[in-house]
Amino acid sequence: MLGIDANSFIIISAAFGLLCAFLFFSIRVGFPKTITGLAQWGWGCLLMVVGAVGFTTRDHLPVLFSSYLPNLLIPAGVIFMHYSLGLFGKLASSGRLLVALLCVASLALAWVTFVVDDYRGRVIVVSSLLTVLFAACGRRIYCYRVKRFPEWFTCAIYAATACVMATRCISVLLYDGTLTLQNDTSAIHDIYFTSFPFSLVAMSLGFLMMANRELQSRLEAQALHDPMSGAYRRDALLEMIQREIAASRRHRKPLSILMMDLDNFKAINDTLGHLVGDQVIVDFAAQATRLLRTQDVIGRFGGEEFVVMLPHTGLDAALATAERIRSRIAEADGTADLPLYTVSIGVACLDRADADTLSLLDAADKALYAAKRSGKNRVVAA
Ligand code: GH3
Ligand code: MG
Ligand code: MG
Repeated sequence: MLGIDANSFIIISAAFGLLCAFLFFSIRVGFPKTITGLAQWGWGCLLMVVGAVGFTTRDHLPVLFSSYLPNLLIPAGVIFMHYSLGLFGKLASSGRLLVALLCVASLALAWVTFVVDDYRGRVIVVSSLLTVLFAACGRRIYCYRVKRFPEWFTCAIYAATACVMATRCISVLLYDGTLTLQNDTSAIHDIYFTSFPFSLVAMSLGFLMMANRELQSRLEAQALHDPMSGAYRRDALLEMIQREIAASRRHRKPLSILMMDLDNFKAINDTLGHLVGDQVIVDFAAQATRLLRTQDVIGRFGGEEFVVMLPHTGLDAALATAERIRSRIAEADGTADLPLYTVSIGVACLDRADADTLSLLDAADKALYAAKRSGKNRVVAA
C-alpha cells in the first residue's frame, strides 16, 4: 500500500485523530458557551482513535478487540460528529435513527465476525454503514439556515468521503471470488484506507472554520447591536446613515429618517419600576421592527429614543410608515402584560442637496419636539 504498511497508516490516522480531539477540547475553553458541539466533536475523534488503535492489535488480541469493537467505534465516532453538528447548528432532530442503525449493524457485524468469519461481509457492513453516516453528516450541514464557505467546504468533504465509502462497498459487492484481508489489494481499497485520516483532518478543519466564523459573526453582531433591544447601536446607525446619504445622492433617490421617543416614559419607570420600563423598550423595538421592510434600519439612540432610516423612501411613504408604528403602539390591547404606552415620531426627508447626517437628524429631532409640544402620541413632518 503506497509503500507504507497498514499498521503504520493506522497509527498515523490515530495520531491525526488525537490531534483533532486535543484541538477541539482546548479551543472549547475559549469559546462562548452558546457555541455548542465542540466537545462532542472531540469525543467523536477520540472514539475513532481508540478504534484505529484496536485494529493494530490484530496479532495479539482476540478478534473481539482487534476487529469487532474497532469496526463499531469508527461509526460511533461519526455519530458523535453528527450529534455535534446538530448541537452546533441548533437543529431539532437528535439522530436517534443513526444510533438504531448502528445497533442493527452491530448484530450483522457480530454474525459475519463470530458466526461465519466472512471478511467480505464485514467490509460490506462497515462501508455501507459509514456511507450512510457520512452522508447524514453532510446533509445535516446542508440543512443549516446560514451556509457560508466553511459550511460548503465541510459539506463537500462529507459528500466526497461518503462517495469513497459507497464505491468501496459496491466494488466489494461486485467482487468475483473469495475476498480476504490478504488478497484485498484493489485501488479503491487503497483510496478508502489512505484517504481516511485526511478526510478526518479536513472535516475537523471545516468544523473549526465553521465555529470560528460563527464566533466572528457573533462578536461583530455584539459590536453593532444594543444587547437589550437588538436594535443597532447609535454609532453603527450614524455610520450607516452617512453611507446611505451618499448613496442616495449618487442615485438621486430619496431617504427618510424617523426620530421616535416614547411618551411619558419617566412615569412608567416611576410607577411600575425600571424592569417594566426595560420590557417596554424591548417591546417597542420588536413591534417597530416588525413593521419595517428588510432594507430599513432601526437604531437605539439612547434611553427610550429610537431612530429609523428608510432608504429610497420619500416623505409621504415615511409619514405612512411612522403612522403605522404610532397607531400599532397606541392600539396595543395590553395582552403582553405591559402597560399601555404611546410614541411620538418626528419625520425628516433628505431633499436638499447640501443636507448631511447632522442636519437631517436635527430636522427630525425638531419635528419630534413639535410632536411632543402639540400633545404627544402623534407624527409630525419636519
Ligand atoms: P416625554 O414624553 O417628554 O418623552 O417624557 P419622558 O418621561 O419620556 O421623558 P424622557 O424622554 O426625557 O425620559 C427618558 C427616561 O428614560 C429617563 C430615564 O430614566 C429613562 N431611561 C433611560 N434609559 C433607560 C433604560 O434603559 N431603561 C429604563 N427602564 N429606563 C430608561
Ligand atoms: Mg420620552
Ligand atoms: Mg427620551
